[in-house]
Amino acid sequence: KSRRPSPRDVMPEKDWSDYRGILIVVEQRNGIAKKVSWQLLGEGRRLADKLNTHLSALVIGSNVSALAKEAIYRGADQVYLCDSEELKDYRTRPYSKVCLTVIGQYKPEIVLMGATYTGRDLAGAIATHLPTGLTADCTQLDVDEQRLLLASRPAFSEKMLATILCKQFKPQMATARSGVFLALPLDPTRDGDIIPIASQMKEDEIVTRVLDFLEQNDYVSLEDQEIIVAGGRGLGGPEAFALLQNLADALGGVVGASRAAVDAGWITHDHQVGQTGSTVRPKLYFAIGISGAVQHVVGMQNADMIVAINRDPNAPIFKVAHLGIVGDLFTLVPALCTAIKAQ
Ligand code: FAD
Repeated sequence: KSRRPSPRDVMPEKDWSDYRGILIVVEQRNGIAKKVSWQLLGEGRRLADKLNTHLSALVIGSNVSALAKEAIYRGADQVYLCDSEELKDYRTRPYSKVCLTVIGQYKPEIVLMGATYTGRDLAGAIATHLPTGLTADCTQLDVDEQRLLLASRPAFSEKMLATILCKQFKPQMATARSGVFLALPLDPTRDGDIIPIASQMKEDEIVTRVLDFLEQNDYVSLEDQEIIVAGGRGLGGPEAFALLQNLADALGGVVGASRAAVDAGWITHDHQVGQTGSTVRPKLYFAIGISGAVQHVVGMQNADMIVAINRDPNAPIFKVAHLGIVGDLFTLVPALCTAIKAQ
């Protein structure tokens, strides 16, 4: 049987040797960068040093020159800065056009961005246009001696780690989860070039405009939190989340949840930690009444300190916890709250 030709069959062999360097697309909103962008700059620095090449950042937005400087302080050798009132808010077409201009002109061999809603949208649009491969939602990145990007992402419900290579096309592209890589500390002594990029959006090419944002008041962004107090099915119902909220308030943190608690309708999805929720890297993570399924653990295992409370001494969560307390959460959590407040 004859099969349909794939792009690999019909694309002529190409010499990609003029593609060099790593490009990180910095995501921002109202001049504040997403943490994942700085985390990717940290990881990009490591990969660039390994490849003996340069690390660039692309900053797009309006009044974002301070971010360009910060990108240099956080590891970039140079920053492409596209600063225009027209680019204040993210939209696929204008932003992907800027990215395609920079990629076409400066030819990076690797392009990375956060696996956020925006990053997923933008990376897909760019990869389709070029066309090249894109590995989405990576949790590990590396490079080999042939300058191939080894982009690894969980597969089969987090049970396997698949390493995906894009051998035939450049740039090699990947999006990466927030909270898995470490940002470099700010170093204001670092120096680098800021290269202005003109926004070439013509008036008649602008298809959509953002007129306003309606912020959801009670929306929780877990990714940037330092203390998370998460609860699971062991809470037995939505009421018990008030206990966790007390503990979170006493510690200055926020409440998280397992998928079981979210699926049961006890708390909204923005609180969910894990494969289909947020990946977090707080200083302190409480897992209360959470068994420690692999899909939950992948979202919180990088926390600096994990404290687990579970009445089952064999619960898998104790394998990743730094401190485990075997007991009933309904006794332990109020006692903990009282002790913290008394201090
Ligand atoms: P359970 O596994 O039921 O654990 C409840 C725990 O509470 C038990 O260990 C029990 O001993 C303890 N307990 C009960 N009563 C008490 C008490 N009074 N005091 C102390 N301890 C008590 N899960 C996620 O969390 N996040 C995800 O993003 C996610 N994505 C998924 C994606 C896919 C494709 C799939 C297949 C699954 C996903 N899951 C996810 C679900 C995951 O497999 C588990 O089902 C889920 O994490 C279990 O939640 P839990 O630990 O709260 O509940």
